[in-house]
Amino acid sequence: MTGRPAIETSGLGKDYGRRRAVSVVDLRVAAGEVFGLLGPNGAGKTTILRVLMDLIRPTAGRARLLGLDARRDSVAVRSKVGYLPADFAVYPELTGHEVLRLCAGLRGHPDLATAHDLAHRLELELDRPWGELSRGNRQKLGLVQAFLHDPELVLLDEPSSGFDPLAQRVLHDWLRAYADRGGAVLLSSHALSEVERTADRIGVLLDGRLELVGRVDELTGAALREVEFSFATPVPAAVFEDLPGVREVTATGATVRCRFTGPVAELLRVAADHDPRSVTGHEPDLEDAFVDYVERHRTHAH
Ligand code: ATP
Repeated sequence: MTGRPAIETSGLGKDYGRRRAVSVVDLRVAAGEVFGLLGPNGAGKTTILRVLMDLIRPTAGRARLLGLDARRDSVAVRSKVGYLPADFAVYPELTGHEVLRLCAGLRGHPDLATAHDLAHRLELELDRPWGELSRGNRQKLGLVQAFLHDPELVLLDEPSSGFDPLAQRVLHDWLRAYADRGGAVLLSSHALSEVERTADRIGVLLDGRLELVGRVDELTGAALREVEFSFATPVPAAVFEDLPGVREVTATGATVRCRFTGPVAELLRVAADHDPRSVTGHEPDLEDAFVDYVERHRTHAH
């Protein structure tokens, strides 16, 4: 992380009555960075984004966006920050053009060039009423309004939800170009292959706590890898079970599958002594790594 901070939170917490949704989150997102907030359903992603936009008040801690206080300077924050809520909706009779003109007026930013550019890339028809748009096209309009006033920072709650693969690509390219020009992006998503391609860093939120922050390759590097050997004759699982880094071995007939962390060298050396006929490997992607991390965390927690 090199650029100046676009988001800084310290000790951020939010309770809903007696239910703790977010506890002590310290988050830093820099200018020029795409940061992906991951977490299972109910982990607190939407809550954090809503606190940052001052739509709900934190129970503890504070947040600064572009050097402004999220609460005290919330009017100024809105003029510099774009926001796509999880449940973006407008009056059904309004057309896309009308929605954009309305947002432009409210934000004091009459220039619709950026909005039209993104709408065009997304092949969004702006002359149709919201009520007649498909889910993915409604989402596109939500995304377009978030970028309308050329914000320095955008907070996007599941931006690609409902997007077809073409729109996902447009979004990916758009976010990368935006970050390359110095914009900062905080997005939440369950589309992990897309986060893997788009985000510079990710944070994993579990039960309201930011448990892990790092680059995508740091998370995938720590995840379980898998290798499968086919031997000429059956080989017992015990041959591999005590090797360093090996977590799980399944032997079915002459096929042995190992899940492991770290280097594969020792496994290959041992396998070589048993007349292997073939070997296939599987490198974890972000989705594997995320599921693996959450499962391991839950096992330790219980
Ligand atoms: P998802 O991936 O399902 O969108 P999320 O990570 O965005 O989930 P949040 O919507 O932030 O999760 O919810 C965090 C926790 O706060 C959940 O336990 C949820 O039930 C609770 N919560 C959210 N909004 C309210 C509310 N208005 N009143 C009470 N509890 C709430």
